[in-house]
Order: sequence, then C-alpha cells, then structure tokens
Amino acid sequence: NNAPIAIIGTGIAGLSAAEALNAAGYPVQLFDKSRGSGGRMASKRSDAGALDLGAQYFTARDRRFAAAVAQWQARGWVEPWTPNLYQYANGVLSPSADEQVRWVGAPRMSAITRAMLGALPVKFSCRITEVFRGEQHWHLLDADGESHGPFSQVIIATPAPQASALLATAPKLAGTVASVSMEPTWAVALAFAEPLQTPVEGCFVQDDVLDWTARNRSKPGRDATPDTWVLHASSSWSRQHLDLSKEQVIEHLHGAFAEMIGCAVPAPVFSLAHRWLYARPAAAHQLGALADAGLGLYVCGDWCLSGRVEGAWLSGQEAARKLIAHNQ
Ligand code: FAD
Ligand code: NAD
Repeated sequence: NNAPIAIIGTGIAGLSAAEALNAAGYPVQLFDKSRGSGGRMASKRSDAGALDLGAQYFTARDRRFAAAVAQWQARGWVEPWTPNLYQYANGVLSPSADEQVRWVGAPRMSAITRAMLGALPVKFSCRITEVFRGEQHWHLLDADGESHGPFSQVIIATPAPQASALLATAPKLAGTVASVSMEPTWAVALAFAEPLQTPVEGCFVQDDVLDWTARNRSKPGRDATPDTWVLHASSSWSRQHLDLSKEQVIEHLHGAFAEMIGCAVPAPVFSLAHRWLYARPAAAHQLGALADAGLGLYVCGDWCLSGRVEGAWLSGQEAARKLIAHNQ
C-alpha cells in the first residue's frame, strides 16, 4: 500500500508526525487552510516587522522534546530567550526572574515549522471539509469541492473543534474529540516610535483583561525598532468579548497595558488585533493521540496533552508511533 498518508494541519503537531513518518520511510501529503505553516506558532508579517502573535516561547520538560529542541538549536532554528521577567498581580508590577529555560524560533517563531516542513509535499489555502473512506483508500474533500487522494491513512492535526467536523466516519473518535472544549485568546500588537521607558521585557499578568505581555525586540533576531509589544487577553475576557471589533479590542488592551506597565504609553504608531478562536484547551488531557488504527484514522494536537508547544509536538510523535506500530 504505497499511497501517501494525508496529514491535515501544518502546525507543530502535524509536522512532528510528518517528520517521524518521513524518517520511517512513509510518504506524506500535508494540507493546511492557511497560506503558510505554523498554525498557532506562525508569525505575522506586518508593517512593524514579523510578530509572534500566538505562541510566545516554549519550555521543554519532556526528555524526548528536549532532545528535539537541542537539535533545532544546533541547526539554528531556535534560541533561548532570556527576558527581564515581571509579574503583575493585585495592581502591583514586580520583577519575577526565574531559572526556567524558554525557547523561541529565530529570527521568528515560524522559523521552526518552516524548517520542519522543508520540502515535504503540502497544499496551502486548502480547507478540508470531509474525510471519507472508499473501499481501500481514504479521500479528502476541500471547501472548493475538489477531492484529494487516494491516501492509505489520515492524520488530523487541528484544534479539537475543527477535528470534530472531519470525523463523521469515526463516531467513537468524534465523541471523544467533541468533549474537548477550547478557549479563545485576543492578541494585540502595539508599536511605539520611541522605546517605552521600562525594563519590562515579559510579564505574567493577573488582571481582568490581560494575561501576558512581551517586548518583541527582547527576543533574538527581531528588529529593534519600532518598540513592538504583543499583548494577550485572558481567556475569560476573550470569551466575553469574542465579537468586539478589532478597534475596540485594541483600545481595551492598550488601556490595560498602559495601566499595568507603569510608564508613559503614547499612542501607538502601529497596531493590530488577531482573534485566536481555539487558542488553548479549557483543561489539560492525557489522550496522547487518538486512533482508530483499524480504520486508519489518527487525531493529534496540543489539546490531547498539555495545550502547549511541547504537548503538540509529543502528540504528533505519538500519532506517528501508533500508525507505524499498526503497519508493522
Ligand atoms: P495548530 O498550531 O492550531 O495547527 C493546526 C493547523 O491546522 C493550523 O495551521 C490550521 O490552519 C490547520 N487547519 C485547521 N482546520 C483545518 C482544515 N479543516 N483543513 C486544513 N487545515 C486546517 N504554547 C506554548 O508552549 N507557549 C506559549 O507561550 C504559548 N502561547 C500561546 C499564545 C496564544 C495566543 C496561542 C493561541 C497559543 C499559545 N500556545 C503557547 C499554544 C501553542 O501555540 C499550541 O499549543 C501549538 O502551537 C498547537 O499546535 P497544533 O499543531 O496542535 O495546532
Ligand atoms: P512557564 O513555565 O514559563 O509558565 C507557566 C505558568 O507559570 C505561567 O503562565 C505563569 O502563570 C507561571 N510563571 C512561570 N514563570 C513565572 C515567573 N517568573 N513569574 C510569575 N509567574 C510565572 O511556561 P510553560 O509552562 O511552557 O507555559 C507556556 C505559557 O504559554 C504559559 O504562560 C501559558 O499561559 C501560555 N499559553 C497561552 C495560551 C493562550 O492561548 N494565550 C495557550 C497556551 C499556552
């Protein structure tokens, strides 16, 4: 059975599975609805340079993931980020340094998935709407009505709500996936012509609006000017303000940022807002990767494990491991 394996999603989970399968000699064909790879680890090109609007950095606590990150570092895809860390709680901003190693893609977050994708076959701007099985093989249908296939197996590597929609042929898997709910995050970037007069480079925020803020130029390889900041709203604020206009979201987050940062914050010379509808699982799970190996259908993603970059990568590895084990 030499038909390739279809992988839906080119986030870190899908690419982790793709890399493992490719290394084991299995042909793969990737699909993504976006114009490029990375998913929630992508970086957005903007008038203020490339911005990491999703994942800000990642930690490696699992031995296998730490080994992968060491390889990425050796290849120049990632570098440690050592920001001046602060926290903001009960209205007080205070230094909050620690010993944790934090990694970022260099010169931008999307460098990692771009390098992992390499020359693997991929179709971008292709939203899969149906996954169905013929007598021997799998076929995919996209939003333009075009069909793709045949494939020997299918790996779905998308956020849980988007995976649910593709699991009509596997009701049991669909049931498990449907029980996972995901929370939104509003992200805003603000650029200032003059650097803000603050030592803060990253801040864990506990207030009603914000959850996190980071200074872009403190990360390795980023442009020094303008002084650009990424702000993330909390899950609850994002949920409650899901349908606010981008202008209003920018205004609210700019206000909350100015209040917490404790220095003069002028009007930004550039701003943008991005709504991540499925940013993080509402709770952590221990699902590894889901499989109906008999059917040849696998599901992975950050929501199967920790809801972080590490969890997504591990889940992709687990999907590939299960598939290879079944084929042997
Ligand atoms: P995704 O990256 O979501 O990839 C799924 C891909 O599938 C996407 O590219 C999407 O376009 C594609 N897709 C979906 N549906 C379809 C379809 N029907 N057809 C074709 N393609 C489809 N993690 C950390 O470790 N540290 C952090 O600091 C951190 N901060 C974060 C901040 C924000 C605002 C967000 C949103 C996430 C953050 N995370 C962080 C989480 C981290 O980004 C994710 O855990 C990880 O990137 C998820 O990878 P994934 O491959 O599972 O999913
Ligand atoms: P981590 O160890 O740096 O952070 C984990 C959590 O510990 C932080 O959220 C924070 O609450 C706390 N913390 C850590 N260091 C701190 C310090 N020096 N001072 C004060 N508090 C500190 O990293 P991780 O475990 O890899 O977590 C990844 C980060 O990604 C988390 O902050 C998480 O909130 C964030 N994330 C955000 C989204 C989103 O949608 N906004 C999604 C997934 C993950």
